[in-house]
Amino acid sequence: MRRKLVAGNWKMNGSLSANGGLLADILAGLGDVTCEVVACPPFPYLAQAQAMLSASPVGLGAQTLSEHPAGAFTGEVGAEMLREFGCRYVLVGHSERRSLFGESDAVVAAKLAAALAVGLVPVLCLGETLAEREAGQTEAVVSRQLQAVLDRVGVAALSGGVLAYEPVWAIGTGLTATPAQAQAVHAHIRACLAAHDAAVAAEVRILYGGSVKPQNAQELFGQQDIDGGLIGGASLVAEDFLAICRAA
Ligand code: PEP
Repeated sequence: MRRKLVAGNWKMNGSLSANGGLLADILAGLGDVTCEVVACPPFPYLAQAQAMLSASPVGLGAQTLSEHPAGAFTGEVGAEMLREFGCRYVLVGHSERRSLFGESDAVVAAKLAAALAVGLVPVLCLGETLAEREAGQTEAVVSRQLQAVLDRVGVAALSGGVLAYEPVWAIGTGLTATPAQAQAVHAHIRACLAAHDAAVAAEVRILYGGSVKPQNAQELFGQQDIDGGLIGGASLVAEDFLAICRAA
């Protein structure tokens, strides 16, 4: 049985005071939440979140990392640094990193390898643009993105791992994939993994991301191959984030 996971991607939002309030409200409302919960604040706030979450069931994640372990890479943050600040998870290949920061499939695969090298759990984000969906390329795109990682680290490295299907056209737009659309892609991703290793495919958690809200979370999370959500905008409002966690 795959335990549901709901992760909040705060993106470049927050402040010391806003985060303190948000995390305190999330911790106070966890009582009837049964899924695994993770918060991914911006880098400068990892220490604050670590202090607030270390004795709680809420896990800590980062939003990206360098593919290099250390060295002359101005502005970058390495995997070992994330671990030192209590991170268990790190997002890899978020569509904003791919489109705005030019991260290729090969760079994403290198970042995922860097995360695994220090024992972080990468959350590998996959997803097609609207043009790719309209051209009927959704499955080909997510297959290509996944294969780049499998070529680099092998399927066994994804054992116990987490993927996130995030259609680019649904991120931050208010447009959500229908549960059936999302389920179809999740099933395809799991089948791709199963072609390499059925046991790994059965245990990997595949999150859905793209305008998940309290109103649509339950139906999405009710799909057979949807194991929780990666939540952007709604993760910044404790009440909404908790409602989504309760739906999982
Ligand atoms: C995201 O950024 O991963 C995301 C899913 O954003 P939103 O929920 O705002 O669409």
